[in-house]
Amino acid sequence: MRVHELAKELGIASKALLAELHGLDIEAKSHMSNLDEEAIQLMREHFQPGAAEPPAKAPAEAKPATPAEPEAAPEAPAAPEPEAESVAPEPADGKVIKVKGAVTVKDLADKLSVRPNELVAELMGMNVFASINERVDVNVAKKIAEKHGYELEHEKRAAEHKLTQRKAPEDEEPQDDAPEDLQPRGPVVTFLGHVDHGKTSLLDKIRDTAVTEGESGGITQHIGAYTVEVGGHRITFLDTPGHAAFTAMRARGADLTDIAVIIIAADDGIMPQTKEAIMHAKAAGVSLMIAINKIDLPTANVDRVKQQLQADGMTPEDWGGEMICVPVSAQTGEGIDHLLEMILLQAEILELKANPNRKASGFVIEAQMEAGTGPTANLLITRGTLNVGDVVLSGQYHGRVRALINDHGAKVKSVGPATPVRCLGLSGVPEAGAAFRTCASDKVARAAANRAAQASKEQQIVAPKKGSLEDLFAQIEETRKLELKAILKADTQGSVEAIVQSLEDIKSDKVTLNIILSSPGNITVNDVMLASASSAVILGFHVALEPGVSASAKHEGVEVNLHMVIYELIDQVRRAMLGLLEPELKERVVGTAEVKQVFNIGKTGKIAGCLVTSGSITPRLRARVKRDGEVLFEGHIATLKHFQDEVAEVREAQECGVRLDNFADFEEGDVLEFYEMEELEQSL
Ligand code: GDP
Repeated sequence: MRVHELAKELGIASKALLAELHGLDIEAKSHMSNLDEEAIQLMREHFQPGAAEPPAKAPAEAKPATPAEPEAAPEAPAAPEPEAESVAPEPADGKVIKVKGAVTVKDLADKLSVRPNELVAELMGMNVFASINERVDVNVAKKIAEKHGYELEHEKRAAEHKLTQRKAPEDEEPQDDAPEDLQPRGPVVTFLGHVDHGKTSLLDKIRDTAVTEGESGGITQHIGAYTVEVGGHRITFLDTPGHAAFTAMRARGADLTDIAVIIIAADDGIMPQTKEAIMHAKAAGVSLMIAINKIDLPTANVDRVKQQLQADGMTPEDWGGEMICVPVSAQTGEGIDHLLEMILLQAEILELKANPNRKASGFVIEAQMEAGTGPTANLLITRGTLNVGDVVLSGQYHGRVRALINDHGAKVKSVGPATPVRCLGLSGVPEAGAAFRTCASDKVARAAANRAAQASKEQQIVAPKKGSLEDLFAQIEETRKLELKAILKADTQGSVEAIVQSLEDIKSDKVTLNIILSSPGNITVNDVMLASASSAVILGFHVALEPGVSASAKHEGVEVNLHMVIYELIDQVRRAMLGLLEPELKERVVGTAEVKQVFNIGKTGKIAGCLVTSGSITPRLRARVKRDGEVLFEGHIATLKHFQDEVAEVREAQECGVRLDNFADFEEGDVLEFYEMEELEQSL
């Protein structure tokens, strides 16, 4: 069952349901996500009035900067909508198998002692298309187990979460800060550009100048980022330049950068990687500016670079455009003050703010195991203040902060937003780009770290289909706009242009196609990271995959499509765009019946003895119970009987016994309407 369907059943907005699910750490990316049976039950308990226990106010917004979980939560892949649970016959021999968390086809086959391939075939018979390593919906697994004479017991992971959450209310902090709590913070800047155009030299020059000017003194310490102070304002530079690192971080969820400065060497001009860097920065939606470097060289030609920028639609400000362009030299230091000023100006426009007075959260820039010190993590605080002694959690690692070391090698007691710091005390080495947060207690952190370890194990079972053509709904939900993002790589510039042209010719009012990067050349790991960070698909035309691309695409869950025929490529994109459109559903009433008598059958509920008044009824139809014209319930048929036998159909004027899932309060005279949902074909 999908989120929006359950929301409808519960009479609430999909958004409210999603918030509740997220509060309980249950994976659901969007209103189109499939929910498993336990999540459905949990939500029904929570939202349906008269539930046994009033639920604790779930921390709807308490999902912190999601350390462990990640956009990467695996969705139940090909699982069909689980229907509301029907009452299963008791297994004759009472054999019980127990499963915990995600159930893969392989796990289930092992437990049932059948060959995985046989199980795949059996699932196909139930219209469930899952490969051996994919997850099966718990409800489906239960049905399969029943067929094999077993009863399947599924440990309720979600319920556990609920309990943990309840036990740890102190850990629930609201996600959003009140506007009055926000204070201005410094910008975080990344340098991008073509190799050898001077990114590292500029970073070094800026840092060295700051240090020699004695503003903080001390020996600089490389901790992945550093902060300089300019006229009382702070700027933080990420110290790992280049779009590969930039996008790899984004793929992990770490959108740290506020301003990307594209470095272009004045003697070399715009090069392929410059274009690529610009596309990566644009895909990230960060603020852009240009630094034209190496102006000390006799061969430098600033105007030529400006012309190239203009030709690429980025007309410099002093030429009447909007792009800030600052000529600089990393060698002599010329123009650097102006560059810093421009960064601050841009930051002012962006009105960057954060709340320093809360528990810290942010991202890991780099992490390493150091001899004598153990695991150290270089963190960038994005909000709140981190103190020595705080309990931090990043993915599956946690620990009490033993020491904090700033970018000048000095020990500090606490650090605020937009500041990098080296942190000692974690139990392991988290991944670069992973989120971190502070927890209320060691116990809370340990529990969350264990959950993350478990989730990461489950995640390895199926890579999330981030950029798959069929499932981009999560992204749509975020942007509230239907958009298919694609990266195009083709053999020549000519093919790139021809394909882009043809793709732009696909006209649609409902779906936009956004080609975030198009360039000639083979598909690289960088392309995969950009696709992953942007939830895009990769289209290749007459190109090959560079080494490592297959593996990273699999790991990131990015779809790579190779084509030899332009027409096929265009057609696939068109179909993908169509696939983004939510199916338009239309209801068709197939039959109606009137309740003549209500039979109480004890534990399993009540049966409505009916007379079919029009059409016919089959067990797969949905049912709606109406009393005096008012709808009391909508749901699925549990059993449909004619006298004592379950039947495939009852027709007009026949009598039948109907039992519904989750509804038993029939009264004589109720009208039952049986309907199905038809999917209408969509057009772009
Ligand atoms: P990156 O690959 O973009 O990080 O480039 P680097 O910072 O490593 O610089 C590449 C080369 O250009 C090095 O040999 C630098 O010394 C040189 N370089 C960088 N900036 C300047 C500059 O402003 N003027 C001159 N003359 N050389 C520079």
